[in-house]
This record gives sequence, structure tokens and C-alpha cells, in this order.
Amino acid sequence: MNPRKLIATARALRELGFDEVYITEEKHKEPVKEEKEDKAELLRKLYQQMEEERKCILYEGASGYVFGEGDPNSPVVFVGEAPGEEEDKLKRPFVGRAGQYLNSKLEQVGLKREKVYITNVVKSRPPGNRAPTREEMLTCLSYLRKEIEIINPKLLVCLGSTAMKGILGKEYPITKYRGQTFPYPYNPSIKVFLTYHPAYVLRNPSADKEFTEDLKKVVQLISQA
Ligand code: URA
Repeated sequence: MNPRKLIATARALRELGFDEVYITEEKHKEPVKEEKEDKAELLRKLYQQMEEERKCILYEGASGYVFGEGDPNSPVVFVGEAPGEEEDKLKRPFVGRAGQYLNSKLEQVGLKREKVYITNVVKSRPPGNRAPTREEMLTCLSYLRKEIEIINPKLLVCLGSTAMKGILGKEYPITKYRGQTFPYPYNPSIKVFLTYHPAYVLRNPSADKEFTEDLKKVVQLISQA
């Protein structure tokens, strides 16, 4: 305001009975910045932390960790057991035979692999592709939980019994409980869906029909509000 106008305004205010007038400067308000860190960046930091801490089991003979991949904003996270030979070589989850089969099944139900998130309970390849022991799984579970917390999906899909053990902390007979949902114990607003491991379906082709039905149900579950 120019000084003349200011004096005139102050006089007018005094006549109105104001003894003192405080002039405060209206500070230019910066728009509030989104503080939220990008999920991809948080996952990158988590994986870097895993590399540094080396607490999650790194099996002898494994070439390193194989972390999750896909769309961190996906409503669904598929959880497998542990990387196999091809995954260990390429450092990507589900890229071997079981992975290719999974990709084709996802496509069949209208899901694109790059639009979902895929990870494993254990992040390095167990010798001879054996199933990880409970103790071995325990070394990686806090990281898996953090991964899930960051992505915060609507649905977690356990591919087989190791994933079920890791996610639910319990083992149900997968043939009996496949196709069913349970609340995720660490955040009950997330649903946990159980199905077969793709490698099991490859070994037991008669399970393909049920596996397809399960994946169709996954599509339904993620499209529900
Ligand atoms: N089997 C798994 O459980 N995970 C992979 O990444 C590959 C095969």
C-alpha cells in the first residue's frame, strides 16, 4: 500500500475508535508439497537396506538377492517361494518355466504381468531349489512385511504353501483351502488369497482348471471396491 493511502486509512481507523493498528504482512503461502515418497523409491531403499544388512538369508551358491518387481501401485501382489535357477541368473522373480506359465495364465484372465507386483518370501536361491526351512524364512519375513506395507495392495496372492506359511504364519492344506481368502494378520484390510504354486500346476496339469478359476477370482477380488 502506498504511504499516503496508509496514513489516510490509519486516520479513518482512529476516527472509528481504534487506538492501535497492527499491520501484518500476508506471507506468500507455498502450496503444501506432497510429502509422500514414491512407492518405487521406498522399495528401492528397502532393497538397498537388505543388500547392506544381509540379514535375509543369502544361500551359498546363489548369485545374490532377487527382489520383487512390477507395478508398486498395483492392487495385487503375488508372492512365491524363492527364486530358482533362471531367476538367480537374471535377478528377476518368476522368469523361468513356472514364471512363463504364470505370465500366460495372467494374460488369460486379462492381467498384465507388468501391471501387478511379483515377489518371493525368500530372496535368494536355495541350493538345489529345495524349499526354505522355517528358520530361513524367518530371516526374510520382516522385509516381506515391509514390502507389503509400502505397496499396501488390496490383495495378496499366496502362490503355494511356502508363501502361505510366510504370509499367514500358518499352513493350511493348500488343496483344501485354495480359492479362499483370509485377512492379512498385519493389516486385516488386506485380503490374502490362496492358490497353487505355478510349478505345482506344471507338474500336475489337472490342477490347471482350478488355477485358472482362482486367477479369475483374483480379478474379481481386485475389481471389488
Ligand atoms: N518359484 C518361485 O517361487 N519364485 C520364483 O521367483 C520362481 C519360481
